[in-house]
Amino acid sequence: MHNASLLVLATGGTIAGQAGSATRKDYRPGQIDIADFLSTFAALGMPAKLVGRQVANIDSVNMDAGVWRELHRSVVTAMDDPACDGIIVTHGTDTAEETAFLLDQTLPTSKPLVLVGAMRPADAVGSDGLRNFANAVRVASDPEAAGRGVLVVMGDQVLAARDARKGRTRGTDAFRGFPRGPVALANPASVDWLQPPWRVGEAARCAFPEVFPRVEILHVHAGMGADIVERAVKAGSQGIVIAGAGEGNAPDVVFAALAESVQSGVLVVRSSRTDEGLVDRWPEDDAKGFVAARALNPAKARILAQLLIANGVTELQAVQDAFNRR
Ligand code: ASP
Repeated sequence: MHNASLLVLATGGTIAGQAGSATRKDYRPGQIDIADFLSTFAALGMPAKLVGRQVANIDSVNMDAGVWRELHRSVVTAMDDPACDGIIVTHGTDTAEETAFLLDQTLPTSKPLVLVGAMRPADAVGSDGLRNFANAVRVASDPEAAGRGVLVVMGDQVLAARDARKGRTRGTDAFRGFPRGPVALANPASVDWLQPPWRVGEAARCAFPEVFPRVEILHVHAGMGADIVERAVKAGSQGIVIAGAGEGNAPDVVFAALAESVQSGVLVVRSSRTDEGLVDRWPEDDAKGFVAARALNPAKARILAQLLIANGVTELQAVQDAFNRR
């Protein structure tokens, strides 16, 4: 491992959380400054030069467009800086998949960009923060981490942002990858890549939006009525993602209301409320003008819909192509 120069952009979360007792269940995320976190980390003696910058110190459920914009701006600057070898973003796990995927789609793949969090606060017995961070340093120091988009390090797994999602509420094995599992296995001393980089030399896929368009996620359930679709459209939604039953399914009345909303220019995406699985295009999607989310879960399908609308990509086939990509 070479002595890489890494920028650490801190946003808070449980990795910066404290409970005030090693055995207490409740805790507050976003308590520890990145300067203090990095001085604790320095005691591990890993060969890397880290510069920390506090972008926010929040529970990631409060993540918003302002913090995203600042993160994006900081990463662009770091990517243009020849003295910076890689970037790490510390983040709460609750919305890590959204931030990781947003950055993944709006940045070039030229340098390692790793997002890392923790499931247990820093002062908990068995805290995973320092271990995960050490793994992230190891991954971000590896020039081979470039050309893969944003990588999410949780535990000893390295997941691609497009695949990563939080699959459990508790425990240090909370993250899952779909359709790919881990693309690498990491520890503080080494990283084993399980496949060659698949996005070498790629430019940003989408421009970072000036304004994030309003896109709602509607969770489908038995007995669902069409009124919620009508309310979303009236409220000014430019897109609607359904967290559909099974393979992106919804009651006939809901599909009829959604098809009507397409006629008024709303982008409709069918994703699944199930834990994982592909949502493929059906023949009726062509007739109704719907998009199939493929492997993206509802939260990430919403981010992609926002990016595409903001970038003026609304033609059905072009939108579907963006959902089909890896
Ligand atoms: N609520 C925390 C957050 O997302 C949970 C975590 O980081 O694990 O900020």
